[in-house]
Amino acid sequence: MIARGAPIVILTGAGISAESGLQTFRGEGGLWEGHRVEEVATPEAFARNPELVQRFYNMRRAKLGDPAVQPNPAHKALALLEAEWPGSVTLVTQNIDNLHERAGHRAVIHMHGSLDRIRCLACYSENTWLVDVEPESACPSCTTSGRLRPAIVWFGEMPHALDAIAEALSEAALFVAIGTSGNVYPAAGFVAAARADGARTLELNLEPSAVRTAFHEARHGPAGDVVPAWVEELLAR
Ligand code: NAD
Repeated sequence: MIARGAPIVILTGAGISAESGLQTFRGEGGLWEGHRVEEVATPEAFARNPELVQRFYNMRRAKLGDPAVQPNPAHKALALLEAEWPGSVTLVTQNIDNLHERAGHRAVIHMHGSLDRIRCLACYSENTWLVDVEPESACPSCTTSGRLRPAIVWFGEMPHALDAIAEALSEAALFVAIGTSGNVYPAAGFVAAARADGARTLELNLEPSAVRTAFHEARHGPAGDVVPAWVEELLAR
């Protein structure tokens, strides 16, 4: 599909972590772990009901420590690609879990933030945070209590690293989207941007996404099958 060593950009979404036991966003009935997005993933929801939002993200964070939640063959295959591809591999994830890192992936752009980090609304610092946030939890940087929020990019907020992502997309020879429904922008628009700048584009998803027709090619099936097969094919060239 591309020359050996040509630059690759990969976008992952909730579907790559589904076989690791983490529910996708629009799973059963269009809910995320039983909640509508507007209830838990917007700044307005946090202003209205901070206890509910903290509890929701506390549960998601705690789930990452569940021994049953482990990187699956798709995360591992991407880490192998990063290690062995002779050119650049830019991994952009919409996921807030840490399964790419735990699979050995070194450079991961978390455009929607990370569950294992916390932001202080008093001093705006961000810190690693692995336990529950309680109403009186203090900021590790400024020690102010009760002003911590999940370091997650909620709907209506600006995703991280958009300039670096745009640059990588403009240089990519191949853009691959994995396990993402194509409903959340700006990520859903990356395929069009990469293609406009000359990249080949490939979708790897359980089913055709909302932006399937924007890709040159698609392979549909569980990420744990289709991603390792694709990586093996690419590295064997
Ligand atoms: P989404 O839930 O909208 O879509 C997931 C896609 O993955 C669907 O198209 C589905 O068909 C596909 N899928 C499901 N199981 C799969 C499998 N086994 N293999 C391959 N594909 C599979 O997810 P999205 O597009 O990433 O939506 C974005 C939002 O969801 C992000 O903002 C993200 O922060 C949030 N989110 C993250 C996590 C996580 O970090 N693990 C979990 C849920 C939601």
